Amino acid sequence: MSTRLVIAGGGHASLPILKMGHHWKKLGISITLVSDQMYLIYSGALPQFAGGFFTFDEISINLKDLCERYGVEFCQGRVKAVNQNLSLVETSSGDKFLYDLLLINVGARAKENHPESRVFPVKPLSKLLPLFEELKAGTVQKLLIAGGGAAGTELALNLSHPASSVKSAITITEHGNRLLSAFPKRLSDKVTRILGKRGVSVLLNNSFEQVTFSDYDAVIMATGNRPESLSIDHTFHTGQNHRLLTLPTLQLPGLPNIFAAGDTADVDGKNYSQIGVHAVKQGPLLRSNINAFFDGRPLKPYKPYPVNPLILSNGPDHAFFTAKSFVSGGRPEAILKYAIDMKWLEKYTMPPERRRSFYQLMRDGEKRSRTH
Ligand SMILES: Cc1cc2nc3c(=O)[nH]c(=O)nc-3n(C[C@H](O)[C@H](O)[C@H](O)COP(=O)(O)OP(=O)(O)OC[C@H]3O[C@@H](n4cnc5c(N)ncnc54)[C@H](O)[C@@H]3O)c2cc1C
Repeated sequence: MSTRLVIAGGGHASLPILKMGHHWKKLGISITLVSDQMYLIYSGALPQFAGGFFTFDEISINLKDLCERYGVEFCQGRVKAVNQNLSLVETSSGDKFLYDLLLINVGARAKENHPESRVFPVKPLSKLLPLFEELKAGTVQKLLIAGGGAAGTELALNLSHPASSVKSAITITEHGNRLLSAFPKRLSDKVTRILGKRGVSVLLNNSFEQVTFSDYDAVIMATGNRPESLSIDHTFHTGQNHRLLTLPTLQLPGLPNIFAAGDTADVDGKNYSQIGVHAVKQGPLLRSNINAFFDGRPLKPYKPYPVNPLILSNGPDHAFFTAKSFVSGGRPEAILKYAIDMKWLEKYTMPPERRRSFYQLMRDGEKRSRTH
């Protein structure tokens, strides 16, 4: 009888584990991924996809294919409950999975839940896809983006780019006194100027509750997220913002065989920001800690980067780089972002012999930045 590792949610943090499928099978460990979506959309490239600068295949990872390639069982289903006493994961369609080891990596969803069909939450990302179709088809005359944080602003920049396939009139509303309030003011000023020149209405000091949604054909809600684990019935300890509390090793306190990572986890009570940088960095740590757990070796703690830089895309030919108080913007930043994003994606979408070198990616990024 093999040891069963069940992964709830195929988020950014889970991917390095999936690639261990064949290797761990030889050691008597079977992996099952339960994911409500067949595809993981890479959020770092989604705003450019919205503007028509990437195809869906370029920004998504087919989880079923990835599982097949590495000998992992894929089950499409939504985890609705974890029964700790029975070591059982249950999906909303009634499938049941017994686990010896469990990883919870279900991400986050938009905090605000609006029943109106014309309101599209920014998370989960899959909910935006039908809207992007409509935007490209030209059926949305007036679009409102609620929330001027990194997600809302990057979408506004790409949708309003002169080469974007979207021609809707865009308004972005922010309850603070500037866009991108978590970043240097110089960045906010530059971005606000660009959006203004493109005819985007930027409403500051203006909460979305003050806006009449019916004045718009569609609304993107980008006003913050909550952990998706809140929609799962469980008895685990939670930390800040209701995220699943973990030890520095990403294990749940007192439950060494259960791990959580990414947006849904409050690692060591530190409530790190819900950014892919953490999820992506936690992936390889999960892999080595799960390995150590099986071998009976000590597990390592999660150590974030001392600084989390952000590259904010503004179409394929321009991006902003910011870290702490530093801000720069230009074509090289866009090329660097392309190379970093594609390097990560190709690890999960292509066999090693087809992956491009970083040098090649930079060259391709340069070419791409001049063709749109
Ligand atoms: C527009 C936008 C742009 C962004 N850009 C950046 C960026 O440039 N850099 C950056 O660092 N961060 C960025 N982020 C944040 C980033 O998307 C998240 O931090 C990251 O995706 C978190 O990864 P994760 O591993 O926690 O889970 P996710 O990658 O969110 O994946 C969770 C997965 O679990 C699935 N799932 C959910 N519930 C269940 C369930 N009950 N059962 C089964 N499966 C389930 C979901 O469908 C999803 O596939 C951006 C976010 C947005 C919205």
